[in-house]
Amino acid sequence: MAVLEQLTSQQAIELEKKYGSNTYHPLPVVLSRGEGVFVWDVDGKKYYDFLSAYSAVNQGHCHPKIVKALIEQSQTLTLTSRAFHNNVLGLYEKFACEYFGFDKLLPMNSGAEAVEAALKICRKWGYEVKGVEENKGKIIVCNKNFHGRTTTIVSFSSDSSAYKNFGPYSNGFININYNDLNALEEALKNNANVSGFLVEPIQGEAGVYVPDEGYLAKAKKLCEEYNVLFIADEIQTGIGRTGKLLAVDFENVKPDILILGKALSGGVYPVSAALANNNIMGVMTPGTHGSTFGGNPLGASVAIAALKVIRDEKLADNAAVLGQLFRNELNKYIETSTIVKLVRGKGLLNAIVINDSEDSDTAWNICLALRDNGLLAKPTHGNIIRFAPPLVMNEEQLLDCISIIIKTIKQFEK
Ligand SMILES: *Cc1c(COP(=O)(O)O)cnc(C)c1O
Repeated sequence: MAVLEQLTSQQAIELEKKYGSNTYHPLPVVLSRGEGVFVWDVDGKKYYDFLSAYSAVNQGHCHPKIVKALIEQSQTLTLTSRAFHNNVLGLYEKFACEYFGFDKLLPMNSGAEAVEAALKICRKWGYEVKGVEENKGKIIVCNKNFHGRTTTIVSFSSDSSAYKNFGPYSNGFININYNDLNALEEALKNNANVSGFLVEPIQGEAGVYVPDEGYLAKAKKLCEEYNVLFIADEIQTGIGRTGKLLAVDFENVKPDILILGKALSGGVYPVSAALANNNIMGVMTPGTHGSTFGGNPLGASVAIAALKVIRDEKLADNAAVLGQLFRNELNKYIETSTIVKLVRGKGLLNAIVINDSEDSDTAWNICLALRDNGLLAKPTHGNIIRFAPPLVMNEEQLLDCISIIIKTIKQFEK
């Protein structure tokens, strides 16, 4: 069975450091197995996973139904390229379109690729349908956004480590503050060449910033008024994570373009997509976009299975109930805490803010102590810790996790 050498934690970490490009700062823990809400390290120590691979593993690690789809399809047909049809892609496209309520799906692999696809669809729609001046198209984006790592996407990032020294930057983006409707209206009013507004319904990477209630619905309305596409990046917030199928569902907003990734495959295989109706997706014609692996039968089979699990196991409902419990219990503790300022989030996408400066290492040290106590989480932006367990968690497990978290943080109270 074992095709690889058995490594100690130290060896595994040293190999990555020596041979891998140094683009991450992982928590020092080396995982070798996962099942449901749990992961195990190479020494057999068991942990609750409170990151879920940035919400890719909503369905839990190695979900048997998704793995089964992967195994069966991998023994049958994995890749044809789009030079030929395959007998799974159409079934997947129909399934996902009906599932999310759109006419058409454009299949890609990584999240950033789906964002790029959405930007291209939006620009083309701007020129060909709205009548934006040639090469003058603009897309409005938000400060503190996270949409991925391509050169175009980092061009409109406000995180210097994401963009610094990666210029020259792509033009055609207008940055405004998140959760600021006046800024959105100003930008729309002052620029006739805007074709889209790209937004995360909750800013995940920025630290789980939940906008004011009504923000998304009003932003969508403004977009309609100015004939601009509302593009929702639900790569992290979508597919059950926040307690509804999509985070925009809380405000009954229907995006013009919906971007999905991460949990679209339950973390088993990279699958992403941009969805839109015919009046928008219709601008895409043969030759205008593509990907060798996008729409491959392996990814398509996995994605169907992953979406069925979300629905059959009612994972969005579970996220809503457990998320409320999580924030209630943490809020009780926070009343008397000197070290945790607040908890915020929706469903099982939550974060706590540590009462220390953004460049302090308190959050990192808390995550190390959480690891020692059997729970894995990661700081985001210095003093914020995101808590996003797989949605297959049950109440008893969540209560166990809450007690680990509170017990651990108490060690840091002054
Ligand atoms: C993770 C993420 C992306 C990028 O997805 P990749 O698969 O890492 O390219 C884009 N947008 C949001 C909101 C994300 O959370």
